Amino acid sequence: MEIIPVVPRGYCKGVYRAIKIAKETAEQYPDKPIYMLGMIVHNKYVVEACKLYNIKCIEDKSLTRLELLDKIDNGVVIFTAHGVSQKVIDKAIAKGLIIVNASCEDVLKTHQIILDHIKHGDCIYIGKKNHPEAEGACSLADNIYMISNKKDIDDLPQLHNVLITNQTTMSILEIQDLINYALQKFPSAKVVDEICNATRIRQQAILNLKDIDCLIVVGDPNSNNTKKLKDIAANSIPKIYMIETVNDLNEEMFNGINRLAITSGASTPTYLTEQIIQTIKEYNNTHILNKKPIEIDKILD
Ligand code: SF4
Repeated sequence: MEIIPVVPRGYCKGVYRAIKIAKETAEQYPDKPIYMLGMIVHNKYVVEACKLYNIKCIEDKSLTRLELLDKIDNGVVIFTAHGVSQKVIDKAIAKGLIIVNASCEDVLKTHQIILDHIKHGDCIYIGKKNHPEAEGACSLADNIYMISNKKDIDDLPQLHNVLITNQTTMSILEIQDLINYALQKFPSAKVVDEICNATRIRQQAILNLKDIDCLIVVGDPNSNNTKKLKDIAANSIPKIYMIETVNDLNEEMFNGINRLAITSGASTPTYLTEQIIQTIKEYNNTHILNKKPIEIDKILD
């Protein structure tokens, strides 16, 4: 079996920076409680590893970032890579919390594009419902309309001077279809595609693969960019597995496979992906699947 680690894969600059900021915050405030407002990135092993630095994740999918803040009364709050609205920042300041903002610069760029436009017109934002990045962007103002599918576009009211933009981690294949559909209803809309470079080049690398029998995508099921890697591959690769760690591997996955590719989402720890690649390589040589334990203290390396 030929094993093809896809390049690029794994951590993007925004995730790398958010993790660095979290570690530095733990060093800077050793005597204060430190909270992440939601998962700092969408990977539960990263969240687990943050506990080693006394950083506690406040997460409840049924609550908005604004509501989650009610669970924090003192200490330091870290805003995640997904970005937050000014309302969340203002509320944290009003509560007397120390703010550390790990929002990705690419997300903040989208916020600025939206803020510049909504003074003069309305905004259609293509994103994933209940995703913190979409929540942060759509709570910037009242005239931002979130859509996830064509039905949402059908249901939109009449809008004026429309900007169409999007969440950074959407699929490069799906988004154009939604943009074209929205343009039928709002033909003079301005379109600013905000899929970030990290998402784009990881998805393009999957599209560039040739004659692959099986793709393993490493990442957390809650990670939108990881799921999109799987979606992108669905048209061209017959077998796709989305797994989180080496523990999800089994021998049957490799039956009849000649060319196996491995990639990982932008929020997946390099350590977890490399452990999977090494284990498969060993299996390829020995036909023994030797799964070594996961060492949580290596996750943030
Ligand atoms: S996927 Fe893109 S927008 Fe999200 S953190 Fe990474 S670089 Fe930033």
